[in-house]
Amino acid sequence: MLNIAIDGPSGAGKSTISKMLAKKLGLLYLDTGAMYRAVALYADRKGVDVNDKEKVIPLLADIVIDFHGDGEEKRIYLNGEDVSEAIREHRVSKMASDVSKIKEVRLFLVEQQREIAKKSDIVLDGRDITSFVLPDSKYKFFLTAAPEERARRRYEELKAKGADVSYEKILEDVNDRDYNDTHRDFAPLVQTDDSVLIDSTNLTTDEVIEVILRYVNTH
Ligand code: C5P
Repeated sequence: MLNIAIDGPSGAGKSTISKMLAKKLGLLYLDTGAMYRAVALYADRKGVDVNDKEKVIPLLADIVIDFHGDGEEKRIYLNGEDVSEAIREHRVSKMASDVSKIKEVRLFLVEQQREIAKKSDIVLDGRDITSFVLPDSKYKFFLTAAPEERARRRYEELKAKGADVSYEKILEDVNDRDYNDTHRDFAPLVQTDDSVLIDSTNLTTDEVIEVILRYVNTH
């Protein structure tokens, strides 16, 4: 199966890029971050603190996550309920980052990600795809951008939606999530030696896609 693995920090544009890339190449797209968000949402709805490992782990047995939808835009279902919008709430982002520190949560989701990747030609994005989920992928990319630029993009996006947000607070959140993702004990975010580094600070989405396609077409 053809797997394209894309890792990088929050807000680097991974999901936009991965979705467009999948469409251009006729591959499926799996947003692994959405799975961590769904687990966090479930725990929160049960009134469980996502940092309380002992309480989170038993919940995993009750969680079924799947993706479906006819078009390219797959929706994510948590125990049969479409939670595609609910998982995007700002508070869920922080909870997902916290819940993702729990090794058992990671193994629960990684097993499902590997199963999906085994059956389909697919683009996956996340934090540990190149290093842990699919270390043998033929194509591995590390997509990043300066924290200030990632915060600026997020700020513009939220402002365009009419949200009352401060750039400083968003930058702080970006830095917190970077710290969490790179410092956890199990499967932290790292740039593997065999990943192609793409710094998108000064690149448009189309330019990033072009870099990836050029690489895929020549390797
Ligand atoms: O990519 P997204 O921001 O939606 O991911 C939500 C959170 O899930 C991230 O902050 C990260 O901590 C975690 N995550 C992870 N491993 C992945 C994907 C996401 O730890 N493969």
